[in-house]
Amino acid sequence: MIVVLEPGATESQVEHVIKILYEHGFDVHRSTGVRQTVLGAIGVRPDFDHRQIELIPGVAEVHRITDPYKLAARAFRREGSVFDIGGVKIGDKGVVVMAGPCAVESEEQINTIAARVAKSGARFLRGGAFKPRSSPYSFQGLGEEGLKFLRAAADAHQLKVVTEVMDRSQISLVEKYADVLQVGARNMQNFTFLKELGKASKPVLLKRGMAATIEEWLMSAEYILSGGNSQVILCERGIRTFETATRNTLDVSAIPVIKKKSHLPIIADPSHGIGIRDKVVPMARACIAAGADGVMIEVHHDPDHAKSDGAQSLYPDQFDVLMKEIHLIAQAIGRVIA
Ligand code: PEP
Ligand code: MN
Repeated sequence: MIVVLEPGATESQVEHVIKILYEHGFDVHRSTGVRQTVLGAIGVRPDFDHRQIELIPGVAEVHRITDPYKLAARAFRREGSVFDIGGVKIGDKGVVVMAGPCAVESEEQINTIAARVAKSGARFLRGGAFKPRSSPYSFQGLGEEGLKFLRAAADAHQLKVVTEVMDRSQISLVEKYADVLQVGARNMQNFTFLKELGKASKPVLLKRGMAATIEEWLMSAEYILSGGNSQVILCERGIRTFETATRNTLDVSAIPVIKKKSHLPIIADPSHGIGIRDKVVPMARACIAAGADGVMIEVHHDPDHAKSDGAQSLYPDQFDVLMKEIHLIAQAIGRVIA
């Protein structure tokens, strides 16, 4: 932590700040300039609230210099994490494509879509059986029946399953059917839930909260990691901004930022990120180009009649073209399609 004193701070004020820093367990290095004194406070205190120092008379500014997350930090595993999920590696050279409908609607629907996305080269089948909807009157998902349809469709086409788990009580059930447990944007800071996911036996795909900073997102990952589950995949799915032309603002810049700050793999979800079908493809291309370890794309064979998110779901033919483009983009940046 760097503590900058005000230009007119008195010697006794400086000494008082130093004394308080020592009391909090910091080692203090002082440098006295012509106009201002700067204190370097050294110590590992990830939970320290620097506002306590900001309030001391004579202090102008306080800057934290270490990140508050440890297990999620790049320094924890310099080479980057690679998770082998039943033979599909995430975080490696291969770009992993996850695709499927927003929600599992019927056995026939999920089978039709699974066949199409598998043929185009997707490795994961997505689809919610438990849906977090803004309205309680909207389709809430098929529950366990949906999980059964999803697993069977995935198995029939050699796909892995990623699906949402909405609360602690569902973890053991969803774990029986899924290869990866998805935590939705609305749950990113449900800390009791995250702690429970730390004990889960399956990897977790942690979506970024709609109003979460990158640091808050990584702190949420830290909850799962510190709970004992080392397999966390981050998912950028768009954040809320002042923009109204799109459903969300897909923060493509988060991808290289996460790559620098963390060793965890990052997947991008341009479907929720922009929310409008004709713009999903260009954003998916951009995310791969920006270094994402994969993309998650909503695909529906009959989006006009989808029970949720039809307007942002690609037609299978569009998805097929996108896969070919992803192949080219991956190649251009020294990667391949997983
Ligand atoms: C979803 O993937 O269908 C979903 C509800 O995502 P999010 O939590 O990002 O809104
Ligand atoms: Mn959706």
